Amino acid sequence: MKITIIGTGYVGLVSGTCFAEFGVNVVCVDKDLKKIESLKKGVIPIYEPGLDTLVRKNINEKRLSFETDLENALLDSSAIFIAVGTPSRRGDGHADLTFVYEAAKEVGLKLDHYAVVVNKSTVPIGTGKKVFEIIKEVNPGLDFDVASNPEFLREGSAINDFMRPDRVVIGCESERAKNILKELYRPLFLLETPILFTKRETAEMIKYAANSFLATKITFINEIADLCEKVGANVSDVSIGIGLDGRIGKKFLHPGPGYGGSCFPKDTLALVKTAQDYQSPVGLVEHVVKSNKKRKENIYKKILNVLPKDDREKTITILGLTFKPNTDDMRDSPSLDIIPMLVNNNCKLKVFDPEGMNEAKKHFSKYKDCITYCEDSYHASEDSQALVILTEWNQFRALDLNKLKKVLLNPIIIDLRNIYNPKELIEKGFKYYSVGRQQSD
Ligand code: NAD
Repeated sequence: MKITIIGTGYVGLVSGTCFAEFGVNVVCVDKDLKKIESLKKGVIPIYEPGLDTLVRKNINEKRLSFETDLENALLDSSAIFIAVGTPSRRGDGHADLTFVYEAAKEVGLKLDHYAVVVNKSTVPIGTGKKVFEIIKEVNPGLDFDVASNPEFLREGSAINDFMRPDRVVIGCESERAKNILKELYRPLFLLETPILFTKRETAEMIKYAANSFLATKITFINEIADLCEKVGANVSDVSIGIGLDGRIGKKFLHPGPGYGGSCFPKDTLALVKTAQDYQSPVGLVEHVVKSNKKRKENIYKKILNVLPKDDREKTITILGLTFKPNTDDMRDSPSLDIIPMLVNNNCKLKVFDPEGMNEAKKHFSKYKDCITYCEDSYHASEDSQALVILTEWNQFRALDLNKLKKVLLNPIIIDLRNIYNPKELIEKGFKYYSVGRQQSD
């Protein structure tokens, strides 16, 4: 079988490469010429563990290729996946579907045989219908179907998530299209992965409901963590205590500086907007969105609170800039809110992130005079008044505390991911502040 993937970002590139690894012939198309040129040479433009090796292997074995020309890519394709970005529309929070509609129109204009067009991008309920209409309008004689196949992979573990997913959701009512998608996902049937066939609208809703539920879990534990600090409880034990209840589950119960990334912030907001449009508000998710926004400000105040209360300029170390470890993705990372607030309050920052610094430099160009990009955690800690752990990269989990104490101006650690043990750090002579647990005075 041959398929086409439109969009070679985190989702398109991972999906295309993994389908090729399943034995399918895959052509990945992107309108970004530089990206395609680099991919043709096996150089991948993003950081995703294991992806470069798999891309090169499948290029060499001639199952994976890259193109800018969609018409060429569509030749003999049975399925065409749309995996382009759906960011928040500036100003109102609805999902911006410009890229999806453009891709649909191009497919309509260039496809000349039956195929199933599959929305892999996260799109609001009803988008599949609209994609169908766009293609029909530009190519009325074409025989085709439109399916929804939302993607649930997580950056940082994307290959494993794609190859061994908890489930695959396919929204489609045409038997012909279903059979193509069943064939494509056959290796996962063999692994007994649950494959759920639903109506197209249901599949679209599942993706938004899943992301909003996970964002709600994070927000819930963040609010419980704040209360723990007030009442002297330990949120880590609370997470274990509630997570052991099978009805709750232990995942996504880690408090921190608020959720970020390329999905949760925009998807929660888009669900809120869709629900408002249909006069069926999702009040709980509306609260989650507000609470998560407020959280960055609260975290900034938490950092300020620990610093000496005078007007002098402060130097602070920030370890971790990406929204989570094992990715270079800075989209909606909490650092994008917290760093400007600190800089605007007379702080100079010394920062280090194992993979995110190139991306971070683009986002923080406005603050370049106040941010020093350092070569490692210790370099970033030299002469700082406090060290803030913003992302829980493995490199930060076992820092040499004696060395840190020597290089820091003040032995203050603000651990926003709870990766250290409060008792141990306090015994070692640090002033240690974490989230929802014992704090130094
Ligand atoms: P991305 O921004 O990393 O990549 C999108 C790519 O599409 C870009 O390379 C862009 O050049 C290309 N593109 C846009 N329009 C095009 C067109 N007409 N023709 C060819 N190429 C085109 O996006 P992403 O993070 O991969 O996300 C894609 C979709 O998947 C989004 O809807 C997102 O919500 C969803 N999703 C993302 C993740 C994730 O972890 N990133 C996980 C699940 C779902």
